Amino acid sequence: MNFTSLPAQDKASPFLEFDNVTVFHGEKKVLDSLSVTLSQGENVAILGPNGAGKSTFIKTIMREFYPCLDGGEVTFRICGKEIWDVFELRSAFGVVSNDLQFTFTREITGREVILSGFFSSIGLFNREIAPEMDRKTDEIITFLEIGPICDRPMTEMSSGEARRFLIGRAMVHDPRVLILDEPTNSLDLHALHAFRQTIRKIAQSGTGIILVTHNLQDIIPEISRVILMKNGRFVQDGPKESLLTDKHIGSLFDVPVHVKQENGYYYATGY
Ligand code: ADP
Repeated sequence: MNFTSLPAQDKASPFLEFDNVTVFHGEKKVLDSLSVTLSQGENVAILGPNGAGKSTFIKTIMREFYPCLDGGEVTFRICGKEIWDVFELRSAFGVVSNDLQFTFTREITGREVILSGFFSSIGLFNREIAPEMDRKTDEIITFLEIGPICDRPMTEMSSGEARRFLIGRAMVHDPRVLILDEPTNSLDLHALHAFRQTIRKIAQSGTGIILVTHNLQDIIPEISRVILMKNGRFVQDGPKESLLTDKHIGSLFDVPVHVKQENGYYYATGY
């Protein structure tokens, strides 16, 4: 069974091509004429303050929101295609968000969380598990080094442990792009370290990472391109060495900061 649902020719296209994408929530313009191209396998961080529109951007990629079409020509392509079966789209790309963790409230083990990724569901609901699904799940559990806790219910896991099973769930279709929306919220220092190591391992294996965050320290060394987002717009896009500076980060968050770099990680002080 082939779990990856994208046709072969799409693998050569950029992951994402947006041009002039504007999204409203009610009367409010939340994404304002965004234009960006992201290659497959590219590691990118979208950095911006709360309310900048980062989550809306991710939800627009996943077709939870659609651009308004009365502002001129709009390009809205994922892997070369404008029109998507939403189920196919969501199973082909892995998304891990803070919100997702809170949807797993019933008794479901870590292993079942990963398996549920095959059905894009929140539980298994007596679905038939094919031997290939079990095999793939074992492979992911080994890769993520979560074997010792995989039979524990999600409700008895720490946030950091649960987050790694959500990554496992996102990996069942071997996504070429893993999308992480504020992935380190509520993680303590130890969990943060373990989580970053996991993301680094995934990036090093060739899967592209799109990270959306307000936290400079989430930007793992494997990410080289940074897009700064504010008030629904992409205000800067370039190499992280040029953009993670006192001037740009101070202006992005409207606060004077000193940006420092240590061992490939960036952090801001002085606010
Ligand atoms: P970020 O992820 O950068 O914090 P969001 O994309 O969550 O930003 O939100 C951008 C803006 O859109 C905010 O002002 C937020 O209040 C508003 N917003 C987000 N989701 C909705 C929604 N479903 N309905 C109405 N307004 C929303």
